[in-house]
Formats: sequence, C-alpha cells, structure tokens
Amino acid sequence: MKKRAVCVRCGREAALSEDQLARARAKAVQEDGPPPPPLPAGICFRCAFKDPELQEPLREWMKLAVEWSDRRMAQVVRRARQLAVRPLEAIDRFIDTLR
Ligand SMILES: [Zn+2]
Repeated sequence: MKKRAVCVRCGREAALSEDQLARARAKAVQEDGPPPPPLPAGICFRCAFKDPELQEPLREWMKLAVEWSDRRMAQVVRRARQLAVRPLEAIDRFIDTLR
C-alpha cells in the first residue's frame, strides 16, 4: 500500500506529493477539475499558510476554488432541474437503486 505523504515541516499533517500535484494540474486542464493548490510538494496547508511567501497565492487560490465549487454546484442544480422535468425517468432511476 502507498504511504500517505506527510508534511516535511511539521511531520503531522497530510501533504500532497509531486505526483498528486501533477495529477491535479492535469485534471484541472483536461476535465475542468478544481484548480490545484499552489502548494509545494511535501508541505501541508497549515504550514503553507504560515509561510509569508505562500500565503498570498494560497488566498488567491481559495477564491478560485470557491468559484469553481459554485460553478460545479450550479451544474448539479441544473441537472436536478432537468430531472424534475422528467419525473418518470427520475422515479425509474430511484427504483433501480433499490433493486
Ligand atoms: Zn505541515
């Protein structure tokens, strides 16, 4: 099993590995995924926020992440509305999940 990456500064919190960051970046480009955090690999959020050089980009990123999740939420609501105009289909799908 793969070991979870732990922050090199505090040694406690989970940190992203170079690999995970690369995957997050690729996903953001290909699938309109959430923007990857501007964290160096191996440093957790808590320690990054204590670092004056990383603080500002992280704040900017949090704004982006909130915008992204708002947009994603709007998509979910739109899909739910589409389902609401086709209630029979929604009921069928619901019954399928019970089987
Ligand atoms: Zn840390």
